[in-house]
Amino acid sequence: MPPNSEETVLCEKEDHEKLVAPQAATRKHELAIVPISLFTYWHVAGLYGLYLIFAEAKWQTVVFTLFTYNAGILGITAGSHRLWAHKTYKAKRPLETLLMVFHSLTSQNTVRHWARDHRFHHKYSDTDADPHNATRGFFYSHVGWLLVKKHPEVLRRSKTIDMSDIYNNPVLRFQKNYGLPVITLFAYVLPALIPMYCWEETLNNAWHINLLRIIANLHASCLVNSAAHAFGNKPYDKHIAATQISTLSFITLGECFHNYHHVFPWDYRTAELGNNWLNMTTLFIDFFAWVGWAYDLKTASDGMVEARAKRTGDGTNLWGWGDEDLGRGEKGGEEVFYGWGDRDMKDTSGVRVYSQE
Ligand SMILES: [Zn+2]
Ligand SMILES: [Zn+2]
Repeated sequence: MPPNSEETVLCEKEDHEKLVAPQAATRKHELAIVPISLFTYWHVAGLYGLYLIFAEAKWQTVVFTLFTYNAGILGITAGSHRLWAHKTYKAKRPLETLLMVFHSLTSQNTVRHWARDHRFHHKYSDTDADPHNATRGFFYSHVGWLLVKKHPEVLRRSKTIDMSDIYNNPVLRFQKNYGLPVITLFAYVLPALIPMYCWEETLNNAWHINLLRIIANLHASCLVNSAAHAFGNKPYDKHIAATQISTLSFITLGECFHNYHHVFPWDYRTAELGNNWLNMTTLFIDFFAWVGWAYDLKTASDGMVEARAKRTGDGTNLWGWGDEDLGRGEKGGEEVFYGWGDRDMKDTSGVRVYSQE
């Protein structure tokens, strides 16, 4: 074992029974008091922040908040989601550091927590081993799951997903080791101090408007788990709950092509070609590929996407190809893996890799 690495023992053989989605056994929820108190404060303070934006905030504070909102979303989408949870591309240390800081802005725990929950979400979608099991309804999959103790099924399967890449990443290990000061500094202290010292905003305005930004970041991320597992169409696999809601991609910077994403979780675009104008995260990654800090960008070829849509899609024709057979797929959702590098991902033919180092 290399120095500082952590034990990440995987079950060689998964001896857990197979969970077939949609599944949710009857459960008595145990409330988590600290998150409930924190969420209540965030929301009350954030609503006051919304009032302050219109009543007395300086315009520079509003522009700065838009910047921190988008940086926070990119920390989640380009960082914890596409880079770390799914390994859809690789990043050099400066980009990893930038994304870790952007992620910390959101106060959504550490990347290690985020990526772990997310790998479980993909591996066991819409069952009790999915941390935000959408089978339990919109509220549970949106924020309800954060307000109760974790489902025992998630804990019971904790050794079924390899987290060694995350646990042994030095940037993420730093964020984990200094989690409280790092997140406090980037999510709360700097966003309050910068407006005060750079354009003489009041502490009251800066603090409360920043809390509004934090809950906006939270709800944007949560909509992918709730709305994009409830409403919309399913062009790529009609047998799974994940859906496409293109319009939500405006506020999530390209994360709501979710039916596509669950079928091809290792694709760095998380969307089919042709949607880049809604997919700012893809443009962000493309920019850093051009700079040279992002490389090994993986995408599905058009043929691979078209074949899958014909086989298991719901008939929604997004690209305009001849769709006589669309919607006649047999059973779908059979290739379940969390992303690139998962030992369950057997077939990599049709994968295209850009910007190799
Ligand atoms: Zn999902
Ligand atoms: Zn994902």
